[in-house]
Amino acid sequence: MQGKIAVEEHFRIEETKGSEARYPGSYWAGLSSKLLDVHGARLAEMDRAGIEIAVLSLNSNAVQGIYEVGKAIAVARKANDALAAAVTKRPDRFAALAALPMQDPEAAAAELTRCVRELNFKGALVNGFSQVGAEDTAVYYDVPQYRPFWAEVARLGVPFYLHPRDQLPSRRQAYEGHTYLVGSPWGFADETAIHALRLAGSGLFDECPKLQIVLGHLGERIPYDLWRLDHRLSKVPGRRAKRAMGDYFRRNFHVTTSGHFCTQSLIHAILTLGADRVMFAVDYPFEDHAQACAWFDAVDIAEADRRKIGRDNAVRLFTLG
Ligand code: ZN
Repeated sequence: MQGKIAVEEHFRIEETKGSEARYPGSYWAGLSSKLLDVHGARLAEMDRAGIEIAVLSLNSNAVQGIYEVGKAIAVARKANDALAAAVTKRPDRFAALAALPMQDPEAAAAELTRCVRELNFKGALVNGFSQVGAEDTAVYYDVPQYRPFWAEVARLGVPFYLHPRDQLPSRRQAYEGHTYLVGSPWGFADETAIHALRLAGSGLFDECPKLQIVLGHLGERIPYDLWRLDHRLSKVPGRRAKRAMGDYFRRNFHVTTSGHFCTQSLIHAILTLGADRVMFAVDYPFEDHAQACAWFDAVDIAEADRRKIGRDNAVRLFTLG
C-alpha cells in the first residue's frame, strides 16, 4: 500500500539517551545514529516502504526519566523545538507529537498548548509514569493532580499517546534472574497496560468523555484480556469509573501496530475495538520499515480496512493533511 502513515516513529536529541542500557555496545550506536537522523536514510527507507508520513516522537524514557523537574521542563522544550524544526523542513513527510514534562502537570499542559497552538503539533507522546523529585519515584497520571492537565488535553482536542518505559530497578522483583524480560519483550506491555487500566478505572473518561488515548504494540495486550477483565471486575468492588472497561477502550482508545506485526493479533484488535480504532505504526528505528510494511501490505484483511488502518484513521485522529 502506498501513502501509509506510520504513527509511532522516534527521534532523539543529544540529551535523551534512554535505551543504551538495554541495547549495549554497537547495537545502541546504530540505533542512536538512526534516531538522530530524520531527513537522510530514514526518509529513503520510508520512500521504499510506501510510507508517506511519519508521525515523530521522542525516544523513551527521555523526559519521563528526568526526576529534576526544572531539567525535565527544559529538555522537553528543547526536544520539541528540535522536532518542530525537523518537521518544518519536510511538512509533507513528517508530523510531530510533543514530549511533555509530566513531572509538573501545569508545565505539561502549558507545553502541550504551546506545541499545538504555535508549532502545529498533532498531540503528545509520553513515556509512561514520571520520576518526580527523586530517582526511585513513579507518578501515574490517574491521580487527582493531573485532572486539570487532562481537561486541557481534551480542550485542545488532540490525542495522547501512552508509550512504554522501563520499570524502575527497585520494582522488578518479578523479573529477578530473568532480566531479559524487562523492557520490550514483556515488561513494556505490562507497565503500559496497568497505567492505561488505571486511567480507565479512575473515572477520567467520565470527566473527559472525548479524550483519546493511543496505545502501541496492538494495545499492550489489553484487547486480548478485555472480556475477562470486565467479567471479573463485575464481581470486584472499588472502581471509581461508571462504565465497563470495554466501553472506555472502544470509545477512548486507539491502538497501533508498532513493533507487533502479527496477523492474529491484528485481527483480534480489529474484532475487539473495530477497524476505526487501529492504526499502522513501525516503531522505527527499534523496528524495521521494510519488515513492518511487507507484513502490513500483504496481511489478509479487507482492502477497506487496510486503507483505514494504513492511513485514514491517522489522518482523522491526528488531523493530518
Ligand atoms: Zn516506540
